[in-house]
Amino acid sequence: MIKKIKKFYLSIPKSRILTLIPMVILFFAFSCKHSSSVEKGIKKEKEKSGLTYIKTTIENGSSLNWELANDSTVNIHLNYDYERNSLNRAYDHWHFLLEAKKGTDLTLVFHNFSEIYNGEKMPFNTWIMDCITSPDDRKWEHVPVEWIEGERMKVKIHMESDSLYIARVDPYRVSDLQNLVSNIEENELVKITPIGNTVEGRKLQIIQVGGDKAPHRIFIRARVHAWEPGGNWVVEGIIKKLLDNSRESKKYLENYTVYILPMANMDGVARGISRFNLNGMDLNRNLTAPADSILAPENAAMEKWLEAMIEKGMKPDLAIDFHNDSNGPLFFSTAGKEKKGYVENMDVLEGLLREHTWFSEHTSFFGTTSFEEGLMARYDIDALVYELNAHWIKGLNKKPLSDDWILLGGELCNVFDLYFKETK
Ligand SMILES: [Zn+2]
Repeated sequence: MIKKIKKFYLSIPKSRILTLIPMVILFFAFSCKHSSSVEKGIKKEKEKSGLTYIKTTIENGSSLNWELANDSTVNIHLNYDYERNSLNRAYDHWHFLLEAKKGTDLTLVFHNFSEIYNGEKMPFNTWIMDCITSPDDRKWEHVPVEWIEGERMKVKIHMESDSLYIARVDPYRVSDLQNLVSNIEENELVKITPIGNTVEGRKLQIIQVGGDKAPHRIFIRARVHAWEPGGNWVVEGIIKKLLDNSRESKKYLENYTVYILPMANMDGVARGISRFNLNGMDLNRNLTAPADSILAPENAAMEKWLEAMIEKGMKPDLAIDFHNDSNGPLFFSTAGKEKKGYVENMDVLEGLLREHTWFSEHTSFFGTTSFEEGLMARYDIDALVYELNAHWIKGLNKKPLSDDWILLGGELCNVFDLYFKETK
């Protein structure tokens, strides 16, 4: 090859070489100038957008990819979740920090809204989607969303400062739970009991509020599905009310004690995952059989604790698993229809909720392998799932934020008191 080049070079007359050199220089100069002007153009376009960065590494930040489409539009591609080998919704959770120059107007276009649930594609309802923004990741407000062709959602943002948090539902983080625990753990009415670890080794604890000798016990589980923070805010409301030192709360704690597993899917919350644990397991399925302690250690820990309580003669009289969905119903146990008194007890609970809280949605017997069926079938505990509508509170005629769920938690303390007085 080198010989061939040498031969070609020697074949060119010396006078021609002198004229070729400037042409080669000009060619390279033009190429470099052209590519650097393209780069400058892209850079200028990006600078014009005002967008500087989208940060997803904030606590509970969600996994997503993003790109600047033109000078003011940002495409945000949400990432799908997996239940083992089965593709699942990408749209359940988003939470990130938008960094852009103060005064900038941006259009965020969210992608990947396909309704894929446990591997099956279903029709998508656009009305179930919301977007909230916050200057400090604490105080949130709803912003209008618009649907565009191709299952995409458009949100217009005006930057009042250099950064703005964006999310779907009012976030509740692992650090919020840690703050709650450190604020109450010294209280003589509170007992914190470690019950096991998550897949990644995070500690699972039961928060007990009330004494061991109260005549009734309620078990509450929250945040099984990581995108659903509503239950955590309700738990905050319950604990705040029971520890407020008021005449009512003292009366409540003479009647019952609450045992709370506040964040069953703590790994999922920490990592900003939508629904499943870190082994891709749905912690609200397969509860009608003993949990796999390797794949679902969170459920195995809960079962071990429940069995120890039953062994001590301290079986919970009522168990509630809090979730978020787009309808807000109470799901009762189908297996419970066979148990004497269960349907009547659930009727009492439903009536009290309608009378003393803002609950006004429907009730249903779901009949899967979820919490209410598992606890009823295996432990004979009156159990239910309470789905908090993530998009609309019918009873308050508004879109929900954390204060609404905290309010519900406080009201539930009264409902529990009346429930145990009206049921056997
Ligand atoms: Zn759920």
